[in-house]
Amino acid sequence: MNKLLALFLSLCLLACNSGEKETPIQETEQTINHPKNIILMVGDGMGLSEVSASLFYKDAASNFERFPVVGLIKTSSSDNLITDSAAGATAFASGVKSYNGAIGVDSDSTEVKTIVEHVSERNIATGVIATSSITHATPASFYAHSTSRSEEEKIAAYLPNSGIDFFAGGGLQFFNKRTDGVDLLSEFTKNGFTVDTTSVKTIADDKQGFLLAQKGMPTMETRGDFLPKATQLALDQLSKNEGGFFLMIEGSQIDWGGHDMDADYLIAELLDFDSTIGTVLDFADSNGETLVIVTADHETGGFTLSSERGNYNEISPTFSTDSHSATMVPVFAKGPGSESFGGIYENTGIYHKMMELFNK
Ligand code: MG
Ligand code: ZN
Repeated sequence: MNKLLALFLSLCLLACNSGEKETPIQETEQTINHPKNIILMVGDGMGLSEVSASLFYKDAASNFERFPVVGLIKTSSSDNLITDSAAGATAFASGVKSYNGAIGVDSDSTEVKTIVEHVSERNIATGVIATSSITHATPASFYAHSTSRSEEEKIAAYLPNSGIDFFAGGGLQFFNKRTDGVDLLSEFTKNGFTVDTTSVKTIADDKQGFLLAQKGMPTMETRGDFLPKATQLALDQLSKNEGGFFLMIEGSQIDWGGHDMDADYLIAELLDFDSTIGTVLDFADSNGETLVIVTADHETGGFTLSSERGNYNEISPTFSTDSHSATMVPVFAKGPGSESFGGIYENTGIYHKMMELFNK
């Protein structure tokens, strides 16, 4: 279908440019519009006001402005109008609406295959990065199956055998201080992983893992450039794979700033996520075969950039709740296949659109 379209367009180009000496070959390649690599970035709890903070609280231009395609997703879960991060990420990772708390299982608690499980069977390399524990709801839903997000030790046991080739985040205690006494760090070694528990740096040619905190990563006051740096390492490693890659990157703590109703915390996390988007887009722009999607599982905090007592020249970031909200959240896309991410659709559409592009 795509090839026919490409052929048709190249014939058009030949016809239109017949008087000129330009070669149509390059144009033809650009019309074959499916990516080799897909990078999904999830800002946990990141609604439109959170995104807008990058316009007002950043010195440089917002990286969100670099996306040509914008859409909106509906985020309700199978059992609640307002989703949690587990059901939200299960929708992205497996394309099903499930109940709040579900990790890689459907509303009947049956395991559902994740995008990582699908593509890693096809020589597509995969990675997950988070600023929470790597066993927290959002990253977990991409490689594990559990009826409850709280079972982080059970979730951890999936990671060494999951098909994941790169991971970075916190959660060390769920691997090496387990109630069952199993040392999952040696399980990683058995499976060809090099795992570092001190800092992000290149430690192997392939299969690297980083567990840099007992639970969640620290806040921006001490975390520094962990997220963009881990992202760059993942891109260096995964892009060596000739079959392409899938990478999920989460700005986990935007949500935590919302729960704390702490605007400084939220904005610092949002700006860290924005700069990580910059790292990803710089890679994708030069690579040319990479689709980048940025979205959120839900909004947190009912956050608004309201005026300070009617003074339209002063923004007073405000929260209406310390929980999640039902508002639609934005989707940003750039790269081959990005056109299909415009419009208003269910959160499960993210999975189906990504798989359709990987299946082309
Ligand atoms: Mg999360
Ligand atoms: Zn939350």
